[in-house]
Amino acid sequence: IADAMAAVSARVLDRAADWDLAGEIPPSLLRELGDMGLLCAEVPAAFGGLGMTSAVSGELTAHAGSLCSSLRSVMTSQGMAAWTILRLGGLAQRRELLPRLTGGELAAVGFSERDAGSDVATMSTLIRRDGDDVVVDGAKVWMTAAGYADLLVVFGRFGDDAAAVVVPANAPGVRIERVRDPLGCRAAGHANVLLDSVRLPAGHLLGGGGQSLQLLVTTALSYGRMSVAWGCVGILRACLAAASAHAKTRQQFGKTLGEHQLVARHLADLLIAEQSATRACEHASKCWDDGSSDVVMATVLAKHLSATSAAAGASTAVQVLASAGAQDGHVVARAYRDAKLMEIIEGSNEICQLVLAQHALTLA
Ligand code: FAD
Repeated sequence: IADAMAAVSARVLDRAADWDLAGEIPPSLLRELGDMGLLCAEVPAAFGGLGMTSAVSGELTAHAGSLCSSLRSVMTSQGMAAWTILRLGGLAQRRELLPRLTGGELAAVGFSERDAGSDVATMSTLIRRDGDDVVVDGAKVWMTAAGYADLLVVFGRFGDDAAAVVVPANAPGVRIERVRDPLGCRAAGHANVLLDSVRLPAGHLLGGGGQSLQLLVTTALSYGRMSVAWGCVGILRACLAAASAHAKTRQQFGKTLGEHQLVARHLADLLIAEQSATRACEHASKCWDDGSSDVVMATVLAKHLSATSAAAGASTAVQVLASAGAQDGHVVARAYRDAKLMEIIEGSNEICQLVLAQHALTLA
């Protein structure tokens, strides 16, 4: 893990703010990290990956998140694509596709559509068999990393069921349009993807298709939620470090900011947020690694707690830095914009709360 973290640090250096402003991470750098297996570090060694546990990969994800949420977002997408292929693909598909994802190719995952956001069950993308081919028609929105991707894992209706299909980004009929000026994670390559009669060999259907939509989406989202949760821990660590350093040195009214009790309370809040989000993520990853049936609930809880804590924590950090952090290019300003988006993706705050409330009712 130390080597993996060092490899990420050595490539990000102090460039995250520039990438954020430019809206782009150098694709060669993403491919280099991908080729080291670091963008989807849980892929088993048998398929060319590093075979990290969820707990170890989580710490790596938090490290990436503390440096650059855009890079961490690309990692989340790559990991989600790999996990979906691992869980839903046949052996031949796993053997073919996973080494590509640990060998420098990049992937994105698409379930959301313009009229199917939280209510993903209403998606209208159609995937149909036509002889030995499969044909895909639809329009996905906000696919993280699609602006960089070689492969798109696309979910859609498949007869009375659903399917996930692996679409090469350069297949005829695929059009990828960058989302312009996103609020945060600006260099994560978000794109809307139009699929117009995209014809592929039927071998591109993961597991032959015909699974339940709920199973498909839950598979991808479980991984995504865990990854986002750890990424938010990283945001909190970056905010805590920046706020503490500033409060320790900046003086007003004859003493350091940290010696003013109201500012000190902000630091305490940040520490509590970082520690509690870390513990929730560690617990969820342990459930994941132990194969515990509690994993779904633990993951939703970790995602919700980490995302809301990161959004509040980033706001607190900006408050402590004040004018020193109130400008693009500062780590807390970037965290403030990035963290807000974490309350929307992989199950918004409200959707997570609904899932948690349903669980609470089963305890009655
Ligand atoms: P809506 O569903 O319209 O929701 C609007 C508001 O209403 C939200 O606050 C929501 O919580 C609330 N709401 C909706 N239904 C309920 C309800 N039943 N009860 C209470 N409140 C409710 N999609 C992908 O497929 N792949 C990606 O890689 C991807 N990456 C993304 C990255 C970013 C930065 C963003 C912003 C989005 C991304 N998305 C991606 C899309 C994301 O999954 C959706 O934005 C998300 O599911 C919410 O859908 P929506 O934006 O249409 O909001």
